[in-house]
Amino acid sequence: MLREEDVHSYADASLEIILKYDDNGNILYANSLAKEELGYGEQLGGVSLEKLFPAELHRKDGSFPLDTVREMAEGMMYRKNGTCFPVRMAVKPADGINLLFAVNVARQVETERKLVRMKEEMEETLKVRNEFVANVTHELRTPVNGIRGHVTNLLENGVSGEVKSTLDIIIRCCDNMSAIINNILDFSKLEAGKFVIEQKEFNFYKMVNHTVETNIPAINAKGLRIMVNIEKTIPEYLIGDELRLTQILNNFLSNAVKFTSVGYINIEVTKTLQFDDEIELFFVVSDTGIGISPEEKDKLFKSFSQVDASITRKYGGTGLGLAITKQLIELMHGNVHLDSEKGKGSSFSFSVRLHVAKKAKEEQGSSEHFEFINQNQELPGFDSAEKFFQFGTPENVQEIKSKMEKLILCMEVEAWDKAENFAHNIKELVEQASKDLKRSAFRLEMNVRKGDYDKSVEQYNSLKALLEETIGGM
Ligand code: ADP
Repeated sequence: MLREEDVHSYADASLEIILKYDDNGNILYANSLAKEELGYGEQLGGVSLEKLFPAELHRKDGSFPLDTVREMAEGMMYRKNGTCFPVRMAVKPADGINLLFAVNVARQVETERKLVRMKEEMEETLKVRNEFVANVTHELRTPVNGIRGHVTNLLENGVSGEVKSTLDIIIRCCDNMSAIINNILDFSKLEAGKFVIEQKEFNFYKMVNHTVETNIPAINAKGLRIMVNIEKTIPEYLIGDELRLTQILNNFLSNAVKFTSVGYINIEVTKTLQFDDEIELFFVVSDTGIGISPEEKDKLFKSFSQVDASITRKYGGTGLGLAITKQLIELMHGNVHLDSEKGKGSSFSFSVRLHVAKKAKEEQGSSEHFEFINQNQELPGFDSAEKFFQFGTPENVQEIKSKMEKLILCMEVEAWDKAENFAHNIKELVEQASKDLKRSAFRLEMNVRKGDYDKSVEQYNSLKALLEETIGGM
């Protein structure tokens, strides 16, 4: 049996207010915290419970309902000096003696109130910001479209030479600007939860083909190869948001082109699930480009993140693309994954859920109308990028030949920017060759960089001769 003194000493150590009172509400015992917190000190023993609770608890006839206290889970406790504080409490009645336990929750209540206030303020700020973004982007779009329209008119009126190339640059700048404006608008809509995914019928194969087609000029300009393979069991007509799916695929594809200078890009689409008319597609977009390190990987899908500042300088972009893409994929009930190794290439994969269009439910995709699809059944992973740089492998030899052909063409038309890219690629491709070859490729790049036609051609021929000696058949 515990002695009363022992019980009291435990109660004195408690972080709760503990009071013992009889059925008339007379306090018989109070622990140290109660005496201190309520401001009565040693006098608390003689006080009635009535004093500690608010006037609202009193009945109209002036009586005090002790039963109510018994059922209260929270309330306000009054101090001797008339101030009060909120409590969470419990009463345990036993044989005419009641034990009341209470905890002062003033701080907690204040924190909760602050949190609610902060949340409301944040929501308000976000709303104002989103409205601002929507207005500004709208205002920006009008002049950009205006500039583009007028420049297009000028181009249609038959300009040539330097004026034409300047106007072409203005058109490209306008298109970049429009893309950035659209990204910002999408991003703010996604953040505000106002993004709606459309459900409309579309031709899936045409969509992929069209997306690839828009990237072909850039792919050709860089001398890359593209392979597309779509599993034939995927129906031709699907229901979903064609525009947004194009945006997702295009973001991965255009990034692959942007960050690859040698090798190929591979797109693969398979059907991972079909239940009734619901279908899950799995896309893989891989490249043999610069790759992404594990540390950089974590930053990737966050908004405004580019893996490092030098990338922004060299390749441009806002760092919004992947953040938007990830959210769009999630809205289509899918997820995204990245597999990459620095210097070897990247492989972005993602899934999306769509529906099969009724009219085409039984139809199978017929790829033969589409130019790029199922061109090549060989589907190498990005790790074979190494073969491109390993001097003398068939991939390496083929790549050198292809870049040499493109280089001479660019030199002939004095497209020095492009020529410099190809000369640089060639230098990278012979990195593991003999000193002579390396030196020759280096000199070629230098002459091309200077835009010196005669010296470049001379150096080109000497490198070509050296290559013929080593790998033959140039
Ligand atoms: P941006 O619109 O600036 O291209 P993204 O969100 O699309 O932004 O990409 C963010 C960053 O991720 C890029 O700046 C680049 O550093 C990296 N990245 C994306 N795709 C690739 C890729 N295929 N290979 C290498 N790096 C990539």
